[in-house]
Amino acid sequence: MLAILLHRFNSEDEYDEYNCNSVILEQIIEVLGADNYVDPKDFAGSKNCKGWFITVDDGNSTDLELARFLSSHAMRAVFFINPGLIGDLNYASIEELRTIETLGHYIANHSFSHSNLIKLNNMEISDQIRLAKEWIQKNGFNQLNYFAYPWGRNNFAIRRLVKNMGYEVAFGVTARKFDDCSPSGVLPRFAVTSSFDIAQLHRVLAMRNFGHAESWFREIFRILQTCKGKLVI
Ligand SMILES: [Zn+2]
Repeated sequence: MLAILLHRFNSEDEYDEYNCNSVILEQIIEVLGADNYVDPKDFAGSKNCKGWFITVDDGNSTDLELARFLSSHAMRAVFFINPGLIGDLNYASIEELRTIETLGHYIANHSFSHSNLIKLNNMEISDQIRLAKEWIQKNGFNQLNYFAYPWGRNNFAIRRLVKNMGYEVAFGVTARKFDDCSPSGVLPRFAVTSSFDIAQLHRVLAMRNFGHAESWFREIFRILQTCKGKLVI
């Protein structure tokens, strides 16, 4: 399994380091293979799940455009949102989230206000997770039972709390330990931006045959590690 992390899409700000444009994304799809793409709901932390999928964080105002782009490629993604920011300047509106869901994508919990959970006490952490979960439910979204740590920040106590609150799958933002795919683990994601060195990934992938899920997974990890300087992680 390989989870790609995107933030903003086709941003007009050329200095936006969290932006990924459609040209890069087209290349990612070509290199990783549309045929290898899996529906995120079919992934439940299984390291035997061969394939890749896209996750999108923060509920930015570019989410709808990105959702339409992905739908035009018949790809479903998970949009991790912070209800406390929805409708604010530069963030998606609730109507846009509804359209994103109608297009076949998933809404999931990224905490209520994108707080650094490490700096909060247990009660505050629970509130961040619970309030977001309730908001998503109350507004009728069909949420995936996945969680993404804001900024990927977590520790043992936070991970335990997230698990106790019913989340079987929780994502970080970077890849450290790819064999840690247990339900209580922090699943790695690779953040891709417009400065991503797709050529390097393309060259190495072209030389290999990824027959076994585990080797495909490890190889992608190794390749992306070598691209680390060009990734926002
Ligand atoms: Zn975030």
